[in-house]
Amino acid sequence: EDNEEVAEEYLFKVVLIGDSAVGKSNLLSRFARNEFDSNSKATIGVEFQTQAVEIDGKEVKAQIWDTAGQERFRAVTSAYYRGAVGALIVYDISRRTTFDSIKRWLEELSLHCDTTVARMLVGNKCDLENIREVSVEDGKSLAEAEGLFFMETSALDSTNVQTAFEIVIREIYNNIS
Ligand code: GDP
Ligand code: MG
Repeated sequence: EDNEEVAEEYLFKVVLIGDSAVGKSNLLSRFARNEFDSNSKATIGVEFQTQAVEIDGKEVKAQIWDTAGQERFRAVTSAYYRGAVGALIVYDISRRTTFDSIKRWLEELSLHCDTTVARMLVGNKCDLENIREVSVEDGKSLAEAEGLFFMETSALDSTNVQTAFEIVIREIYNNIS
């Protein structure tokens, strides 16, 4: 601990999963670049973005992976999950079907990742209160039943986006230190 010349390096792989159009790409662009894109277009080129977060005075880097739209064809490959130590499993609070898919995403995650993977259930688009189809209670109870962290977010107005990623990154850090 007193060897200050050797900077410890932490790099954690975190994956974003969930149905198409729930806002995964926008959660990442909000977190990494503070940007939002109102046009739904397939992610171009970028497989992941690296974002540094400070935890207990240490710089921790999260390499956050976004799908390139392959979830539309239920074709997220094992390479996508390989080495992941954290996951944000995202649904859209204004579309019930995306919440109903969460069980399937959790199964897929458990097929590909260690049981110690830090998992956060994310109900995105909480700005769409007027057309909500999934209650906060439903989100909470699923998270409790499955042992997940839970948070509602809005990539549009930034609500809880930073916090959601940081809780996952902190949990990973706690798991290894
Ligand atoms: P992905 O397919 O899961 O990556 O979803 P995208 O990030 O491409 O978002 C799909 C659509 O939902 C786009 O039109 C976004 O502008 C919109 N969107 C994403 N996040 C939010 C949000 O928090 N609130 C609202 N109202 N729209 C959002
Ligand atoms: Mg996307």
